Amino acid sequence: MKAVLDHIGIAVKDLAAALAFYRDALGLEIEAPEEVASQHVRAHFVPVGESKLELLEATSPESAIAKYVEKRGPGLHHITLRVEDVRAAIALLKARGARLIDEVPREGAEGSLIAFVHPAATHGVLVELKQSTVDSRQSRALSTVDCRLSTVTRYTLGDLELISVCDGFVRFDGGAMFGVVPKALWEKQAPADARNRIRLAMRPLVIRGLRTMIVDAGLGDKENDKFCDIYGVERTRNLDHTLAEAGLAPEDIDIVLASHLHFDHAGGFTMRGSDGRLRPRFPRAQYVVRRGEWEDATHPHARNRASYLLDNYVPLADAGVLQLVDDDLTIMPGVKVRRTGGHTMHHQMIVIESGGKTAAFVADLMPTAAHAPDPWVMGFDLYPMDTLAAKNRFAREAMEKGTLVFFEHDPAIAAGYIREIDGKRSIQPA
Ligand SMILES: [Zn+2]
Ligand SMILES: [Zn+2]
Repeated sequence: MKAVLDHIGIAVKDLAAALAFYRDALGLEIEAPEEVASQHVRAHFVPVGESKLELLEATSPESAIAKYVEKRGPGLHHITLRVEDVRAAIALLKARGARLIDEVPREGAEGSLIAFVHPAATHGVLVELKQSTVDSRQSRALSTVDCRLSTVTRYTLGDLELISVCDGFVRFDGGAMFGVVPKALWEKQAPADARNRIRLAMRPLVIRGLRTMIVDAGLGDKENDKFCDIYGVERTRNLDHTLAEAGLAPEDIDIVLASHLHFDHAGGFTMRGSDGRLRPRFPRAQYVVRRGEWEDATHPHARNRASYLLDNYVPLADAGVLQLVDDDLTIMPGVKVRRTGGHTMHHQMIVIESGGKTAAFVADLMPTAAHAPDPWVMGFDLYPMDTLAAKNRFAREAMEKGTLVFFEHDPAIAAGYIREIDGKRSIQPA
């Protein structure tokens, strides 16, 4: 989470005396006071560089500031950290076990949204989180331009609700993403940056039916700066934000299902707690992983080692929340796994059926819409001919059934339908 010091609140008993110091002695500018009637307080902001001081004067004996001054005398009252999305910040802190005063944000000064964290969690300092609505509107406008379709998209399939969420973007080498396809062809579909990388989304899928499931969970936030530079990680808007936007908290997830355990799919399975220890990111969930994939991921070799980071999944076994499945089974009503192989020996896709309709989350079988044609197979794949065969089989079936296909890595298209005209396969966005 990115947080910037917005201001420091100081409870004042005698405003004239306080002004004699801050205004007259220090020579600072004092802004026009702002009355916060609901709190019985008058706030005088004092700009000091990037942040401000806030002199807080009670306007009634019932004011929390009056009570504070009476009990402890004047002095430091709170610090305020500005965050991009206060709801996402609340969800994240809750997930990390921090005690909050406000679990739902309330309105603060100048139309901002605020929430207080309990001093028990902050080592004795009252911390206010603030989302200034102007900032967030601007940043939302920016992120729509910059991260097209990074927002939540909802679909209904019979009795199930399918919600495509997003954990931000990474950049992988364009050559590795398209295998034997020449750059002259792939760069028309996916422009490369100066380091030959192309931009890819990470879009887990939430399935809500009898239970709430998430398939894959993006990269998460455990990686260091060097990693984030190599893979061009952009996570200013990430799974915390998009889950919150979908009205979900991490504790609402009952089942986490893995397509496979590469870091761009399983990184968000675990997180580092405030005590520095790794733990499951979804506190109530059972994590379902294919046994063969688990074996491969826990015994990596030279060719796949860079993709398998043990911190992403070993803590799940330690926490006793891991369920290994051996076959193509139904994981919850309407949701089945199907092994595709190819990308990894035990890579699986997820087939969703309800009310006579079909959808599929194909993960790295067809990571983007550009990978629709059979020979457009990733260089990353361990068994490319198996990918080709599995993709051909799936594409025919999907066209026959009108399957809604979810693309986990496409930077712009969350879901679409496979079409083939004159032997040329393409995707029609949903
Ligand atoms: Zn992968
Ligand atoms: Zn991937």
